[in-house]
This record gives sequence, structure tokens and C-alpha cells, in this order.
Amino acid sequence: MIDLKQEEKVGNLSVFEEISEHAHEQIVYCYDENTGLKAIIGIHNTVLGPALGGTRMWNYKSEKEAFVDVLRLSRGMTFKASLSGLNLGGGKAVIIGDAKKLKSEALLRRFGRYVESLHGKYVTAEDVNMNPDDMEYISMETRYVTGLSEKMGGSGDPSPYTAYGVYMGMKACAKAAYGNESLTGKAVAVQGVGHVGYYLVKHLVEEGARVIVTDIYEDKVRDVSRDFKVEVVDQDGLYNSRMDIYAPCALGATVNDDTLNRMHCDIIAGAANNQLEDEKKHGKMLMEKGIIYAPDFMINAGGLINVGLDYLGNYSRERVFKKVERIYNTVLDIIHKSKEEKIPSQEAAIRLATQRINDIGKVKLHL
Ligand code: NAD
Repeated sequence: MIDLKQEEKVGNLSVFEEISEHAHEQIVYCYDENTGLKAIIGIHNTVLGPALGGTRMWNYKSEKEAFVDVLRLSRGMTFKASLSGLNLGGGKAVIIGDAKKLKSEALLRRFGRYVESLHGKYVTAEDVNMNPDDMEYISMETRYVTGLSEKMGGSGDPSPYTAYGVYMGMKACAKAAYGNESLTGKAVAVQGVGHVGYYLVKHLVEEGARVIVTDIYEDKVRDVSRDFKVEVVDQDGLYNSRMDIYAPCALGATVNDDTLNRMHCDIIAGAANNQLEDEKKHGKMLMEKGIIYAPDFMINAGGLINVGLDYLGNYSRERVFKKVERIYNTVLDIIHKSKEEKIPSQEAAIRLATQRINDIGKVKLHL
């Protein structure tokens, strides 16, 4: 006999305990026998508007890992949307399985029907292991999809906006650290020169920064060195480089015990998601070391601003760039709050995001 109590347990917490820990509104499990679809849609908060967040496909080791990932990612989207001043909530979806083996038109369209069944409470977009063709299949079954390719009439690649936001946020950090937002002559180490990293290097070089780059792929390094004057180092060498600013634009969790002991920098400002291996511990360590850290979910919000405005309508590249530019002021506000309240910048950012949700939530109670 199945022990339902036992089945419901995820780690040490029950499913409902996990959901309530960070006040998620709704978790939707999607299953389809014919296509092998197993997906989870996480809706964290819809006070400000529909929960927008991409769908990623990943070969998770366990269902628990997928569940925890969707909880974490959807919560991050709530803060990102709130701090960006968007009338959007936070959501995210994960499809469980090897994208190379399991992905099919039928699976994606079946997933699209699940998204449609939520009547706009969740709006999806492209994320890890999903491409413009996949999004086109999803959009055949639901209206609630955004950030489609330009070919499909959408806003296309969000990376230039993300890179511009990171650049703006980095300048705000420089203002706080040096009293001057100029990056001219500053040594900036960019880890990962893919979609976002490439555009970020362009902004930095144009401003006269001394840019150090690394990537695991030679062709990426070759492209960026062909187009800009940069110094190339190997992956590990980056942490030992003499730098003023570290810009993680590859993977998460690169701010950890090991790197914080080796790296000497004044600022950490980059596009990667979940840069702090342990949000609480490493947020505090950064503060103690006097390193200014621009919370990842704020500084990399350019992509969300792009797809968000695409979804909300009245889209233009100019409007997106204008809104992305405001990341500069928001990052400065976060740094001030962090200093004033003597709390890590990550926590300051979460408090600011939560405050807007609570304030607007109260506004909505009145006619
Ligand atoms: P990408 O895959 O195009 O680029 C990442 C680059 O990092 C690749 O060139 C890869 O080879 C390199 N890389 C991987 N591991 C590395 C390592 N150990 N050392 C050095 N380089 C390594 O991805 P992207 O779209 O440029 O996004 C970069 C980061 O920003 C990701 O973490 C992504 O989640 C985040 N992000 C991107 C956007 C966006 O608009 N693209 C928006 C928000 C957040």
C-alpha cells in the first residue's frame, strides 16, 4: 500500500510545507502519457500581474530537484519583475527530461495546452534548452507566450538588453565604490563571452575599460578578441587576475568560499543567475569584505523587461532601453539601503521588491 504521507514528502518538508515556505501561490503538475511530458509550472506571486517566466527543459536527477528548481526560479522572477517596475508577477516552468531525446512537436504543444488552461495566470517564454522553433510550437496552443522570434513577430533575442542592464548596474556600483560612475581604465573580468558577455564587452571597451575575458569555448574567445581589444586568460586564471570588477556571465554559484578567498575585486556585477552559492552566507561574506555586489536578479533584468513589454503591448526598442536604463537607479537604491540597514545587498533588494508588492497589493483592494 502506498503511504500517502511518505509520498508527499520532499526532502524533510512536505510538498505543502515547501510551497508555503516562500508563499508560492500555485504549483501545477502537467503529465501526458503519449508524449512523455512531465512538467511543473510554478506560480509564485500574481499580485502585480500575470506570472511571467521562461520554460526550461532539463534532465533533472529527480523530480524533487525539478520541484525545488521551479520554486526557486519562480520566486526570483517575482523580485525581478517587481524591482523592474513591471506589472507582472513571478512564474517559471520546467519540463523534465533530456531535451535532445524527449523534445517533440507534440510534447511542446501539449505543454502549450497546459499553459493555455491557466487562462493567462502564467505567461511563458524561452529559457535554457528551448529555442525559437520550440516556442513557436508552444504558441500554436496558447496565447500566453512572449519573447517570440522576430520572424514570428516577437521581440527576439533579449541578450543585448540584458547586457545593457548589466552595464548600467555596473556603472551604478562604480558610482557607489569610487564616487564616479566611469569605467574608463577599470579592469573588468568577464567570465563567459556568450550572448550577453559579448555585448557587455562591447559596452565596456567602448567606454575605455581594460577588459579581461575567459570562456570554455575557443570560438567564443576568438570572436570577441577579433572584434575588441581584450586580454584573454584561462578559466581558472580569471580569479587570480588583477581586476577591479568581476562580471560573471556564464554559470551560477561562482561566488563561493573558494573564489572569495582567491579573488580581489571591489565590485561583482554580472548577468549569470544565482551567482551566490549560498545566498545568506556569501551575501554576508561580500559585505564583510567590502565588495559591492549587484544582486543578479536585478542587474540581469533587461531580458525580462524586454519580454515583459513585448507581452504587455506598446512595444518599442526605445521603450525597452529606457526602462533598462533605470537599473542604474535601482542598483544605487539597493546599495544605499544595504549600507543604511547594514544588510547584504541581496536582502536589501528582496525587501525593496517585497515592499512594492505589498504597497500595490493594498492599492488593488480599493475601487
Ligand atoms: P550563453 O550560453 O550564450 O553564454 C554563456 C557563455 O559562458 C558561453 O559562451 C559558455 O561557453 C561560457 N561558459 C560556460 N561555462 C564557463 C566557465 N566555467 N568559464 C568560462 N566560461 C564559461 O548564455 P547567455 O545568454 O550569454 O547568458 C549568460 C548568463 O546570464 C547565464 O547564466 C544566463 O542564465 C544569464 N542570463 C541571461 C539572460 C539573457 O538575456 N540571455 C538574461 C538573464 C540572465
